[in-house]
Amino acid sequence: MAIIKVQKGTKDILPVEMPLWYLMEDAARKIFGAYGAQEIRTPIFEATELFARGVGDTTDIVNKEMYTFEKSERSLTLRPENTAGVVRAFIENGMHRLSAPVKLWYKGPMFRYERPQAGRQRQFHQVGVEVFGIKQPSADAEVMLMAVNYLKALGLRDLIVEINTLGCPKCREEYKLKLKEVIKPYLSYLCEDCQTRFEKNPLRLLDCKVHECQEIYSKPAIKEIIQGDFVCDECAKHFEDLKEYLDALGIKYQRNKLLVRGLDYYNRTVFEVKSNNLGSQNAVCGGGRYDSLVKNLGGEDTPAIGFAMGMERLASLLGEQNAKILDAYIVSNNQLEAIKLAEYLRNKDIACEFDLTNKKFVKQLEKASKIAKFAVILGEDEMKANKVSIKNLETGEQNSVDRTVILDYLK
Ligand code: ATP
Ligand code: MG
Repeated sequence: MAIIKVQKGTKDILPVEMPLWYLMEDAARKIFGAYGAQEIRTPIFEATELFARGVGDTTDIVNKEMYTFEKSERSLTLRPENTAGVVRAFIENGMHRLSAPVKLWYKGPMFRYERPQAGRQRQFHQVGVEVFGIKQPSADAEVMLMAVNYLKALGLRDLIVEINTLGCPKCREEYKLKLKEVIKPYLSYLCEDCQTRFEKNPLRLLDCKVHECQEIYSKPAIKEIIQGDFVCDECAKHFEDLKEYLDALGIKYQRNKLLVRGLDYYNRTVFEVKSNNLGSQNAVCGGGRYDSLVKNLGGEDTPAIGFAMGMERLASLLGEQNAKILDAYIVSNNQLEAIKLAEYLRNKDIACEFDLTNKKFVKQLEKASKIAKFAVILGEDEMKANKVSIKNLETGEQNSVDRTVILDYLK
């Protein structure tokens, strides 16, 4: 019979990869927790309208990438990102009444119908943070710190932090007009997507990944507009203040005036974290301020800022992690004694196994060194003396230990 295969753009996360995922998840809890953020888990499907309004119907995500289906005459969509869902939950649960800032973090699968390639899947995972209720740039700085320190905690170095400001709807309007004016003569040379963006969302032109379009946007007259400063005094001050925080905190960043981000709802600060070790899908983290989204989705006017990281891209940067799944492996030819000792240790939170089939000692030791940190050897001599030998499988050091103190030794 034909075997059924995993769907294109999706993957099994296998037991051998789990140490890596636990590492990313545990670090999220620890680092984001240190900033007072709490985890939130929202449903994987939502009303399609939430994304149409929350992500924006001029975005690639909403126009091309959503998994939408009907059930009982309702249009539902598998979440392509989680900011919209978190904002919905924030509003629905009256979280604006909590004292600001409200800091939330999440992790979980997202779904986008994209062309699968390295670093791009149809089901992938994100870990992210949203901070509600603070309009000051101190919140922008803190959110960026959360992202940078999370990546640092995972041991990632050599990352590039890019920042930009998109201004506010007012000052951006003027910029859009100027941009359209200089790009208009080239309109027929742009890719199909850019032709639509030109009408619907001209800022997104800069985000285009098509080489020919980027060549046009680097023409002097166009470049001058892009590289110029368009933001109003208030927005400029917000950005200057943020940079002051980042400088004082030792966060290195580069200004990238082409950074506009894919989603419609951003204003003022946007940022990305990139790695040169990722090939063409090189962004691990993207974020920004979205002061109008809560109101646009029917909530109280609440400023907010957040980011999302792609966990598969993080995983590929982290590489293989120590795959030792056990604290101890009991090496013995007396299965009854071994199972009793194993149960005793498991009850004391020591993860352990023993050989269920009574193999030769050498075979058991071989297996132990592959999967455990310590071998607890329970041979004839040891049993007579009410002792065990404990071998540290990393250093090779071996000691004879009284059975009453095994726990102390292993801990
Ligand atoms: P990209 O420009 O790479 O498509 P994006 O702007 O669509 O990114 P965001 O919506 O900001 O991405 O999502 C944040 C992060 O989630 C990205 O920086 C990336 O690490 C990850 N990500 C986004 N789409 C995918 C995908 N299809 N597969 C794997 N990871 C993804
Ligand atoms: Mg994308």
